Amino acid sequence: MTPLIHQFIDNQWVASASDRRLPVTNPYTEALITEVTTGHPYDVNDAVGAAQRALPGWQGLTGAERGRYLERFAEILSRRRDELARLSVTNNGKVLAEANLDLDDAIACYRYYAQQARALDERQGERVRLEVEGVEARCYHDPVGVVGLITPWNFPLVTSAWKVAPALAAGCTVVLKPSEVTPLPERAIAEIALEMELPAGVLNLLFGDGNGIGAPLSAHPGIDKVSFTGSNRVGEAVMHAAAERTIGVSLELGGKSPILVMEDADPDQAADWVMAGIYYNAGQICSATSRLLVHQNVAEPLYAALAHRIDALELGDPLAEGIDMGPLTSARQRDAVRGYLTIADQEGLVVVRDARHRTLPKKGYFLAPTLYRDVPTSSRLWREEIFGPVLCARSVADEAEAIALANDTVFGLAATVICWDPQRARRIGRQLKSGSIWYNSEQLVLPQTGWGGFKRSGIGRELGPWGLQAFLEVKHVIGPGDLG
Ligand code: NAD
Repeated sequence: MTPLIHQFIDNQWVASASDRRLPVTNPYTEALITEVTTGHPYDVNDAVGAAQRALPGWQGLTGAERGRYLERFAEILSRRRDELARLSVTNNGKVLAEANLDLDDAIACYRYYAQQARALDERQGERVRLEVEGVEARCYHDPVGVVGLITPWNFPLVTSAWKVAPALAAGCTVVLKPSEVTPLPERAIAEIALEMELPAGVLNLLFGDGNGIGAPLSAHPGIDKVSFTGSNRVGEAVMHAAAERTIGVSLELGGKSPILVMEDADPDQAADWVMAGIYYNAGQICSATSRLLVHQNVAEPLYAALAHRIDALELGDPLAEGIDMGPLTSARQRDAVRGYLTIADQEGLVVVRDARHRTLPKKGYFLAPTLYRDVPTSSRLWREEIFGPVLCARSVADEAEAIALANDTVFGLAATVICWDPQRARRIGRQLKSGSIWYNSEQLVLPQTGWGGFKRSGIGRELGPWGLQAFLEVKHVIGPGDLG
């Protein structure tokens, strides 16, 4: 495949100023698929310049006009759904059914923000209720400006959709930097911009790594806001760079989310939701429910049901029918997770299932789905985000203990509560410090509901009206008489 050494700037593919390249691999075959440029700060300058020039024209359109582009984006993405899902599997290693769901999620997101863009027109100039005679105030919503969007590799086309769609709906112009690990599916965003004749400079896409593009983009004086999804380490660096210029950031960072199974839950049904919460995408999910807190009365049947299901998981070619889990996305990620398995051995954790229980495919960055029980809360596996198919469990005596342990983390992205009684589920959910709480369900992610974390899981919310608000500035016009 042709190396990705061109950047998409001002609706043109232009050669990157960098001549350094990184390998892009297929995590199932371990074969080199292509190479991608590291990118260069000069590319960032050019892309920011293009986005600045495009801003007045783009923000001058009505929300309805911008919405038509987003609608068209969703249409083209729908037409290319199967091809892009397969490309995503080849580059990321997730199973095809999951890649299809990713595409559906991205399409729904562009459609949703097409509606939100139209609805924004209705909100412009709304009168503010005042308690002062003879004074009128009206409220407007202006785009923040030129925004830098930086995304990770675990959900290609999804994490970018959650930023690109609301940013364009708001009237911002964009410089997007996808992960250097999964540049292939993300390339389609530029192709779609070209096909639908998006005005030049509105959406620029830069391939590259953190040094070549990510850091210079976060620090560029022409960027008015950075929206970042990725690790806490890099999120902090992005926030530092933004602080130097007092600009805003949205951060979607890591997690160590709990799943609570209470004594009135059916262990068999609960086991299905526990499985989906941790082994989906080989555990490489920011919202993975990687800490299982199970009531002591149902712990043994639940562990038995989980062991049975783990043994039944088929690992193999992610494009093949009947495969439940593919490889991890990179050798680097596989090795990082393996490091935690070594720590588990050193700490003497109690194994329910690990690598000793399964033969892995000969090739590919595979890891066995792993379950430890009775994990001490001091264990590094209990406290740190692992980002792989590793579930840590412990039993609890009652609801209060479950809630206290669930909240005993620096993160707060998501949580799942499994119990028979909906009133009780709501009561527990209200006490959990997380952005999303699922009750008796797998992790439903919908464009209408917000996404983001409490505590160190991030700053701000994506999706829903909050995702749009993140790219808007509020402006009030105040004066005597009718300002209509
Ligand atoms: P990462 O932080 O290593 O990289 C994320 C992006 O930042 C990549 O595009 C990378 O090239 C870029 N980058 C690297 N160094 C940079 C720098 N100095 N300045 C600016 N950008 C830089 O994360 P990753 O390994 O790609 O993804 C895994 C992490 O992402 C996990 O911690 C996971 O929890 C998190 N994540 C969070 C969410 C969420 O919604 N909260 C969603 C997906 C992933």
